[in-house]
Amino acid sequence: MIYKKFKEIMLSTLGMGNMRLPIIKTETGTHIDKLKAKQIIDYAMANGINYYDTAYMYHNGESEEFLGEALAKYDRNSYFLATKFNINANPDYKAVFEEQLTKLKTDHVDFYLIHALSDSTMQRYIDEGSVSYFLGQKEKGRIKYLGFSTHASIPTLEKFLNHTQWDFTQMQLNYFDWLYSHTKQEYEILEKRNIPVIVMEPIRGGRLAVLSQKAELELNKAHPDWSMASWAFRWIKRLSQVKVVLSGMSDMNQIIENISTFNDNLSLSDEEESLLFKACKAFKNEVTVPCTGCRYCCDDCPVKINIPAYLSIYNKYRTDGRWYAINALKKADSIGKPEDCIACGVCTDLCPQDIDVKTVMSELAELQRQ
Ligand code: SF4
Ligand code: SF4
Repeated sequence: MIYKKFKEIMLSTLGMGNMRLPIIKTETGTHIDKLKAKQIIDYAMANGINYYDTAYMYHNGESEEFLGEALAKYDRNSYFLATKFNINANPDYKAVFEEQLTKLKTDHVDFYLIHALSDSTMQRYIDEGSVSYFLGQKEKGRIKYLGFSTHASIPTLEKFLNHTQWDFTQMQLNYFDWLYSHTKQEYEILEKRNIPVIVMEPIRGGRLAVLSQKAELELNKAHPDWSMASWAFRWIKRLSQVKVVLSGMSDMNQIIENISTFNDNLSLSDEEESLLFKACKAFKNEVTVPCTGCRYCCDDCPVKINIPAYLSIYNKYRTDGRWYAINALKKADSIGKPEDCIACGVCTDLCPQDIDVKTVMSELAELQRQ
């Protein structure tokens, strides 16, 4: 494992995200498959990962508790914990923080984040007192480093950065967003202020793990033994401001492969980057819905449509064809169906990727009728 210096400590360049752990369905609903998930954590610890990221909301509140249990047998000084406060999930920041410490079985959080900064939440985080409270907890040593994760616009980001001296920022960063959203600008702002960057969504929620046949062709010719995920990770290694790349690993194959990618310093050359950007353009022409599966849109859909599940079907439909989609639409696990969509647009307002969900739902409903 390669490590990078962050202030006075060394962080593993690959971090373990705990948002997409393996799951199991029981009579009481869907839960973390603790047996499988613990194997992943043990493998991560055995192979040098020392950064573990979770949040109050992940896995419907189960992720923090699971992580507390899974790491309890290890020396508390052998890993760093990162968790987050989300004002929409529960605005009572004092109660949330105490609950998190209990769930994580610890007396301090190493990396504490204001979660998912957006244009609509930024002022609330400041005005309702959470930022000053967490700064106070930092002074008491119950938080070591204070930062925030962001999906905000550039002006909001700049305003929040000016509010106080942040220790780090977590941002969505991958080559697709570098080309097609404001990621590059965001990164350059942080670089200029010398704020360390923790990367989330390095392969866009798995979306860049498989490109289209056409897009993969040249990449496979250049490096037949590299997976698409490793291209994505090796591209990020070019960026010096990045300290940790988080990956929400759901099975053993993923963690084994990712650890091998982060066991060396090999990053893309300029020529390889050009090849990757070309492949990305070809890919984008075929896949137009950049859903990361974050689920920020789900709770507020009035007809309870499992939006990311249907967007994933839509993406597969665009690459694998109509028959895949028709079968997948029949099996989709969702209360509301695409034909139930009332085109209210609430989901798009909440979506960090600004996806026009109602149009996709209408296309899928039409496909179902055929
Ligand atoms: S536009 Fe459709 S999918 Fe989106 S929140 Fe409204 S009903 Fe749900
Ligand atoms: S549609 Fe947007 S908000 Fe909903 S899961 Fe996908 S990326 Fe997240």
